[in-house]
Amino acid sequence: MGYNSPMAKRTSKPRKSRGRRETPLMKQYFGIKAEYPDAVLFFRLGDFYEMFYDDAETCSRVLDLTLTSRHKDSDEPVPMAGVPHHAARGYIARMTERGYKVAICEQVEDPKLVKGIVKREVVQLVTPGVVLDDEVLDPKRNRYLAAVAGAGERFGLAYLDVTTGEFRATTLPSIEALANELSRVGPSELLAAAGDLQPEGSLGPMQARHQRVVCTPIVPLTLKAAETLLTSALAGDLDQLGLREAPLAVRAAADVLAYARATQPAGVLPVNRLQRYEPGQAMMLDEVAIANLELCETLIGGRREGSLLAVIDDTATAPGGRLLRRWLLYPLTDVAAIRRRQDAVAYLVESASLRAAVREALAGVHDIERLSARVSLGVATPRDLGRLRDSLARLPRLAELLRPAAADGAYSPGGVGAALSEWPALLTVDESLLAVLSKLGAHIAEVLIDEPGALVKEGGFVRAGHCAIVDEQRQLATGAKDAILEIERRERERTGISSLKVKYNRVFGYYIEVTRSNLSRVPDDYVRRQTIANGERFATEELNELEARVLGAQERVLEREQELFTELCDRVAASAPSLRAIGQFVAAVDCLASFAEIAHTRGYVRPTVDDGVVLDIAEGRHPVVEQMVPLGSFVPNDCRLDPDGEQLLLITGPNMAGKSTFMRQVAHIVLLSQIGAFVPASRATVGVVDRVFTRVGAADNLARGESTFMVEMRETAAIVSQATRRSLVILDEVGRGTSTFDGVSIAWAVSEYMHDAIGARTLFATHYHELCALADSRSRVRNVSMAVREHDGEIVFLRQVIAGGTNKSYGIDVARLAGLPRSVIARARQILDHLEAGSSWHQSNQLTLFAAAHSAPSVDSQLDPAADEVLARLRAIDPKHMTPIAALQVLAELCERAG
Ligand code: ADP
Ligand code: MG
Repeated sequence: MGYNSPMAKRTSKPRKSRGRRETPLMKQYFGIKAEYPDAVLFFRLGDFYEMFYDDAETCSRVLDLTLTSRHKDSDEPVPMAGVPHHAARGYIARMTERGYKVAICEQVEDPKLVKGIVKREVVQLVTPGVVLDDEVLDPKRNRYLAAVAGAGERFGLAYLDVTTGEFRATTLPSIEALANELSRVGPSELLAAAGDLQPEGSLGPMQARHQRVVCTPIVPLTLKAAETLLTSALAGDLDQLGLREAPLAVRAAADVLAYARATQPAGVLPVNRLQRYEPGQAMMLDEVAIANLELCETLIGGRREGSLLAVIDDTATAPGGRLLRRWLLYPLTDVAAIRRRQDAVAYLVESASLRAAVREALAGVHDIERLSARVSLGVATPRDLGRLRDSLARLPRLAELLRPAAADGAYSPGGVGAALSEWPALLTVDESLLAVLSKLGAHIAEVLIDEPGALVKEGGFVRAGHCAIVDEQRQLATGAKDAILEIERRERERTGISSLKVKYNRVFGYYIEVTRSNLSRVPDDYVRRQTIANGERFATEELNELEARVLGAQERVLEREQELFTELCDRVAASAPSLRAIGQFVAAVDCLASFAEIAHTRGYVRPTVDDGVVLDIAEGRHPVVEQMVPLGSFVPNDCRLDPDGEQLLLITGPNMAGKSTFMRQVAHIVLLSQIGAFVPASRATVGVVDRVFTRVGAADNLARGESTFMVEMRETAAIVSQATRRSLVILDEVGRGTSTFDGVSIAWAVSEYMHDAIGARTLFATHYHELCALADSRSRVRNVSMAVREHDGEIVFLRQVIAGGTNKSYGIDVARLAGLPRSVIARARQILDHLEAGSSWHQSNQLTLFAAAHSAPSVDSQLDPAADEVLARLRAIDPKHMTPIAALQVLAELCERAG
């Protein structure tokens, strides 16, 4: 998806030049279309949604529909494309996924009851950020609509999930901060002033980054209008909303709200609170760290599977999954808050039976948040309410499990030690909330049958015995139907036509059918209605009367059922805040239980989190890699970092030795600790980290596709300027995107700076072993390396971090593991030994010629064209300006040429 929305470019106004068909229908169309110029209008015509003019062309292209035309034979045919209404869902989804806005225009009158043109209205706008269709929504991900309001350097950001009612706003000090925050929020649609979205506008520089968000230009509200809208919509003045000092956040929030409201002309947005927050309240994670640490998706391929989120998500409910994602992207820095989560997890780890029971109770709880929002939006079905009722019915069991054992003896988890004697605050059920919702659940159960269908208009969902009118009319209808069946028996007897049948169809209603051979016996009081191939259809006065009774009764039942449904929805909507509150409680319990389950099954431990600055991990493991390698084969490693002691670890070791894995596992353990989870280690102490920085050398930074040295250096500059003593800095092969000497020099200077000026806990992996010398002049630098063993001339990776640097890069050994032929490897060693012995490259080059001539087994190299090629290539190389990787590549290429 491009940064500039297709909507912005391809607005689909009917073209004037084409001339318009001014039939009454098209007049109505133009009137509605004029109100939604930037949306594709799905115009309901009978059983189809039709699109006209440019909209038709757009849809035929995007949805692969046949382009036809209306008024074909006139001199002004109207381009047209359509989809059947029952299949429209999928088409609408495809349009919004491609970044279009779809206005759904329905017939709002019954065509049977009106003469002429039926009234039509747009009932809903579906945009990339406002999608209500569960089949499109990812249950475990919020769907955010966001808006940015800028003034100079500062930005207000607000975002709303229409499907849950979550609404947040914040203010950011720079475009960088905005970009970082957006990468955490991950909105599906971003609103901003039209000018700001231009390449040269204030949001222009972000173009390349937020590739997957659709940007929609808007005309922003003035501050005054924004304040008025917010205070009226959210019930409270700016002080109560905590927005007095945040005009940019106010503007962004109002823009989001105004846009979202316009998409639901018929419904009420399920928003009752705007949460203002400061990104600084949580651990700072920038977009590079989120990407490099593969928190929510993998670097390559962008898949969820293989991410940290995927391996720690064992939640049982969709809201639990959504909350977990938020927790992971906003790790806490407040020690007390972290310990509250840990207490709850510990409790659930200790008591296996409680944990199992809680998870079982959770499994039956549907997405209360989204169901409740659907009710408020007026799109809920009887089935939705049924699910809500079933979910509410699970709460008493959950509450019973989560009530402190001491209170009423309802549950007494065994084996909980003295340290855990206090019931964890986060697992405490709000009893009054529970009482309110039990009543609501019971009420829904009274009204609805056990398994209500998905269509209000079909009726049949009101429980027998609930409403006298419904029961009575249903009885009338049944009685009349029975009477009709009785007619068949009686008329057969009276006429002597044994094949006589009473039938029903939608066009004629009830009728009596008599076959051709029996027509002579038809009595006079039968009124002929239709002739069919092998007989005739008749009506009788009695039949008509009964039919009217059936239909009348059915209509009254339906009407009443719909009334009852609306009443029920109103009642549920009135409880929306309670539903949201319980939904959030359930989601949190789900996350905590998921942490506990994973801690239990994988042997994670509770880390000690404190306000200190020491990071001390014993036998740490990488939570993702550990799951991918054979059970028990992951090699654990310790890591101690202390701004006053071992502040900077320089990690050397060959490629594939495990450097990156080790550093990422340290970052993962810190993150897990600060979201309140247990960690893969035998023991861990984590002094709270304010921000994790990670930089991966350009050569490794595949996923971003911008492996330029410039990018790498810009990111490094950000660390140097923003890291604090509380930060955790991870530098992976930084400096590698340039020639060896530059790279070493930069890496050296950055390390010195981290040591001398910042004091942040730093892990620096490099294969420039020259850097090891840094430890001689800097007291808090420690050299460690990844252990390798040479065995029968082969190298074996031990994956163990050991004290001391390496002075060997093992590049050639890795090349051999990668499958380069023996002869080439042998030759490479020869050259390397020669170089290490202090020869100049020129001398080595001589050696190359010499050796090549003598090692070619049978063919005279002078006559071998491959040899010439190899020589020519070698002569063209300047190894002083090559990175080790590039050297390996050349080596591989040479092998290929040599055959
Ligand atoms: P480097 O960064 O040194 O090139 P990586 O960290 O990318 O090496 O590790 C290479 C591979 O080695 C990983 O993909 C993983 O499969 C394996 N590996 C790394 N660390 C360990 C470990 N501690 N235990 C087991 N396997 C590991
Ligand atoms: Mg690496």
